Amino acid sequence: MRVLLVRPPRIKKAIALGEFMYSEPIGLEMVYKVLEDKYEVEIFDMMADNMPLDEKIRAYKPQVIAITSLCIDVIKVLSISRQIKELNNSIVTIVGGTQAYLNPGAFMDSSMDHIMKYSNEKNLLKLYGEIEKVCEIPLIDGVLSKSRNYEDSKVPGVNEYILPNRKSTQKYRHNYSYFGYKPTAIMGTSRGCAKTCRFCLRWRIEGHAEEYFPMDMVKEDIRNIKEDYVMVFDNDFLHNSERINEICNFLEDEKINKKFICYASVHSILENKETVKRFKDNGLVALLVGYETFKSDELEYYEKKSTIDDNLEASRFLKSINVDVWASFMVHPDWTKEDFKGFRQYIKLLSPQVSSFSPLTPFPNLPLYKEYEDRLLVKKDDYESWSFGQITIRPSNMSLSSYYLETLKTNFYINLFTNNVFYMVKKFGIGRVIRLSQGSFNLLIKYLKLMAKNSKS
Ligand code: SF4
Repeated sequence: MRVLLVRPPRIKKAIALGEFMYSEPIGLEMVYKVLEDKYEVEIFDMMADNMPLDEKIRAYKPQVIAITSLCIDVIKVLSISRQIKELNNSIVTIVGGTQAYLNPGAFMDSSMDHIMKYSNEKNLLKLYGEIEKVCEIPLIDGVLSKSRNYEDSKVPGVNEYILPNRKSTQKYRHNYSYFGYKPTAIMGTSRGCAKTCRFCLRWRIEGHAEEYFPMDMVKEDIRNIKEDYVMVFDNDFLHNSERINEICNFLEDEKINKKFICYASVHSILENKETVKRFKDNGLVALLVGYETFKSDELEYYEKKSTIDDNLEASRFLKSINVDVWASFMVHPDWTKEDFKGFRQYIKLLSPQVSSFSPLTPFPNLPLYKEYEDRLLVKKDDYESWSFGQITIRPSNMSLSSYYLETLKTNFYINLFTNNVFYMVKKFGIGRVIRLSQGSFNLLIKYLKLMAKNSKS
């Protein structure tokens, strides 16, 4: 049986906002690993490949096509599955990935044969085995099949981390990046997050305690990576000093030189300063830190487990050991003009190498959604609007136009005065910095249009 694993192309809205960089499709590399011994499998990454889908299908002649989905991918995935069925109705279509987990109902369409809410070695082998037999598909945990009216076994589960086969994306790998670092591989060592911040979807999907992947697998994964840069996408990688030290021992013993980028909470940075220093000596180059806000009451409301003073202490500490910080913040819908001003001053005080911010977003799967339901500016099923820094909650202390204006002012302030342009040019080269800046320019156009629309209504 021939299987094609597809990552959809970037959606237009993302490209318009300058989000043209993308990382490797690690979920597909894991599925590839499970299936490769039994079937003929190929990954078709439409973000990196220019070949049209119909041409690919005619050339490869797959019997099964599985498509991965991100949070925003519903429309794109369905247009692909419909195109597949129009070309050849006998091809079996499958969707998996984040959106299939969060919102499987969005894919209940005549063009979709199976929705994988979650995948693990067991249900993948079972589903593909049954498809190969061309018989009636039984009820499989984590799989909703059209022939069974998308019945759900209701056995809970999450996507299993399986050692990915990185060779499966060999021809595309030079394209994969993280922020400006290219080429960069991505990997995980645990899932879940004990910090349980109020606005966060991750721990709700993965669990409110960290679950660790076997250390032998983590080591094997690092050994398999050929790229110099590695982005570890654990939610709070520095929370467990013992594990980081074990990884440092391994890197030192095997003389592995990589440059690591990871997410870390302020709480974990301050709890494990000595380990962070050791990890810096073993390749840590940049941390993505969610400082979130300059207001104590908001940090409490977000249940962040750190204070405004902790943020300042963490920023001083990371500067002292020369670890770069890419800071993220959230703009609250109840902010006043004074708040925006205070926020800009606070960013200057923290002075991370790179800052970015997004409006507080009450994703439909969060309890926050209920809290803000009567102030929402975006419909629940307008999937693509939930992910691109769009203002989704009506501001309470200024008009929507003034709020857009303050957001834009802050964006320009950050890009012109606080983001370290020399740092970025030195690290990523002028070409990539110009392309990154394109996002700000496109945001300006988008917000100006929204402001004009808003003033007419
Ligand atoms: S620390 Fe990060 S991943 Fe963990 S709950 Fe908070 S926002 Fe989510």
